[in-house]
Amino acid sequence: MELDSAVYRTLLESTRAIPWKIDWATARFAYIGPQIESLLGWTPASWASVDDWAARMHPDDRAWVVDYCVSQSKAGVDHEADYRALTASGEYVWIRDVVHVVRDAAGEVEALVGFMFDISERKKAEEKLLGLQKELEDFSFRDGLTGAANRRKFDAVFHDEWNEARRHVQPIALIMFDIDYFKQYNDHYGHVQGDEALKRVGRALASAANRPRDFFARYGGEEFVLVLPATDGAAAMRVAERCRQAIFKEQIAHAASPLGQLLTVSQGVGAVIPAAHDDPLTFIDTVDRRLYLAKQRGRDRIVQASA
Ligand code: GH3
Ligand code: MG
Ligand code: MG
Repeated sequence: MELDSAVYRTLLESTRAIPWKIDWATARFAYIGPQIESLLGWTPASWASVDDWAARMHPDDRAWVVDYCVSQSKAGVDHEADYRALTASGEYVWIRDVVHVVRDAAGEVEALVGFMFDISERKKAEEKLLGLQKELEDFSFRDGLTGAANRRKFDAVFHDEWNEARRHVQPIALIMFDIDYFKQYNDHYGHVQGDEALKRVGRALASAANRPRDFFARYGGEEFVLVLPATDGAAAMRVAERCRQAIFKEQIAHAASPLGQLLTVSQGVGAVIPAAHDDPLTFIDTVDRRLYLAKQRGRDRIVQASA
């Protein structure tokens, strides 16, 4: 049993995929399915040569798609390419073009035949998925309460910046913050207001850092950190002082603080040009000890030297 050509044609022209044929010698369309007009708005007759095909492609896709398809065809290899095709109304539709190379009896390339598939729905779904993935990744690096970067992100950023500093023989500074008498704050005002205070402190401290690579994170419960790349000890002290000012300007009432009526923060500060054998964790520990010293010495202060 054999299908006659009328049946072939009916089958081809009733699928959603758009069949086409290009004569290899002349680089002209021998056939394109009438469905092309409902998809892109161009009449079948307007698809004359491969130049029409290339011209109706998004400029960002054109160079690589044309190069790829021509080289694969020349090599006689079946292939496929995804690209954005221009519609008659000036929009773009994502197409997957699946190409089959037809050879003559001598094995020479005679024609290209293929199908164009409308993959815009799939592309939209893919883009949405990518967007969701990015959002999810962002969430996993963000602290849910304050919106600041979280400890995981800090670990990664600090590690990278430490290596950068070592490579470029540049100083890197770290400031660690801990809210003073925050347990008393919660006891006095309740946990909900404690959360609000944490958000305000986070915002205030973050605003004190203003260089593009400065990095602020919530380190733990009521502890925050600021990573300052390419910053020496003197400059880091100025930032720490600005942080202290920023907290003061917030005027967060803390009636239960033994220090006075306002919420305050203690800070440990350190800066180092990392040498090859230096351990970043040891440096963090040094700065943490200074924060502890600031607490011991009365809180609401900045300690930069360990002595
Ligand atoms: P110090 O001046 O020595 O730092 O005293 P402190 O009371 O701040 O320190 P301590 O470590 O004893 O207590 C920290 C408090 O921070 C206890 C905890 O309930 C509170 N805290 C930690 N995370 C959160 C949070 O997400 N929300 C609220 N409301 N409180 C938190
Ligand atoms: Mg603490
Ligand atoms: Mg504290």
